[in-house]
Amino acid sequence: MKYDVAVIGGGPAGYTAAIRAAQLGGSVILFERDTLGGTCLNRGCIPTKTYLRTVEQLRQIEAVKRRGIVLDVSFSVDMPKVVSHKNGVVKRLTGGVNTLLRSYGVEVVRGDASLLSADSITCGKTTYQAASIILCGGSRPGRIPIPGIDSKCVLTSDDILELTELPKRLVIIGGGVIGCEMAAAFSGFGSQVTILEAMDRLLPGMDEELAAAMEKQLKADGITVDTGQRVECITDDGKGGGTVRCKDGSCVSADRILISVGRSPDLAALGVMASSIRQEKGAVVVDEHMRTNVRGIYAAGDINGRLMLAHAAFMMGETAAACAMGQETLCRLDAVPACVYTSPEAASVGLTEAQAISRYGADALLIGRFPFAANGRALASGEAEGFVKVLANARYGELLGVHIYGSHASEMIAECAALIHAEATVNEIAEIPHPHPSFSEAFMEACADALKRSVHLPRPGSK
Ligand code: NAD
Repeated sequence: MKYDVAVIGGGPAGYTAAIRAAQLGGSVILFERDTLGGTCLNRGCIPTKTYLRTVEQLRQIEAVKRRGIVLDVSFSVDMPKVVSHKNGVVKRLTGGVNTLLRSYGVEVVRGDASLLSADSITCGKTTYQAASIILCGGSRPGRIPIPGIDSKCVLTSDDILELTELPKRLVIIGGGVIGCEMAAAFSGFGSQVTILEAMDRLLPGMDEELAAAMEKQLKADGITVDTGQRVECITDDGKGGGTVRCKDGSCVSADRILISVGRSPDLAALGVMASSIRQEKGAVVVDEHMRTNVRGIYAAGDINGRLMLAHAAFMMGETAAACAMGQETLCRLDAVPACVYTSPEAASVGLTEAQAISRYGADALLIGRFPFAANGRALASGEAEGFVKVLANARYGELLGVHIYGSHASEMIAECAALIHAEATVNEIAEIPHPHPSFSEAFMEACADALKRSVHLPRPGSK
């Protein structure tokens, strides 16, 4: 039998591609070597968010005392139970993906699959034929070629999520998204955490104000944040821990060392076609239809290195499937929100201030800000940290970027993304009714501030 579509990889890109192709009437086969759900469900978004919610609840035990609740209990973190609760959440979701694929008649084959030709795949001892093939092999934790990187005490984000014993001292190499989220989780559980980041700031891809707010909060939570520190060497202490040495000669010792320096596309699925499929910087090159240079072969999700986010992978998977089924579709990745699920959260969509200045010039921008400290719902909730910052084009008022640091930022950013896609202006948004009291009002107020007309901020320039 020749399938209409074969998908290699059952993560966010792969399973959505398979389902979309089946919805469009295709006969579909999907290959997965591990558990369905990929990094997102098994070793990424979902496990981390489960941990971060547990930490948030731990913090709330202290916070409720300030609200008049008399609490006299002792509590501690039982790490094996924390891990097994997380595993329960993951199992429920991966089981859900299995059910979805079955409901659409997608044939799922377990095993390591790779390309044999432009229309055939090998898995185990069997060869499968398909008119179109969608490569969704995902990515692996990135590594840096430094001495000691293979020491037993060095963990990736995959490994750290399985730890049933809390490290007393945890050093995190890399202050990107994974570094910040893991620092928040493990510091919340009780580890003494140090982040070593090579650049002069955390979260190098995000707006500078968000990164500064994140650094301030992580430090307030007791995390040591050391920026401008390129790690050059790791020494195993032979007792399970190790010491990290930075370029300036400074050293930090720890019981465990997490390496979170980015992720690299997993190209194993390319098999014997690896030399025929165009790649750049270790990723498969695709156009906006997710097509590779080989006719009939598509690549969606982390494997193409365009945007390593699960929700971008969903979009890319659906696009590849629609194109493979003859429906010409484009994948728009220019205003995809990005979130960091710490407490408070950071969320962004569109251009950062630095990007907007380099594209349009500082004079061509309107910038508005609104602090959650002036938002009634945030104060009532005891979550008044942070702000909303908006960037707009001064000529037309078109919304170009939104950056939120605060509770519920990851929920609020969806409205901002929708309005950027709709090419809305700050003038229009300042007049959209938002419920009162709500965190979302802060976005509307930031748009009004960009126009110097927020009624909940003092007159600009007044003391
Ligand atoms: P990242 O690119 O966000 O951050 C890596 C950091 O490591 C950078 O800041 C870099 O400067 C630093 N670094 C590199 N070499 C170093 C060295 N020798 N010493 C010190 N610092 C060094 O990568 P990540 O945090 O590993 O995340 C990987 C991918 O997963 C990203 O694409 C990210 O967007 C995605 N992800 C997303 C989420 C989310 O959406 N919430 C969560 C986790 C991961």
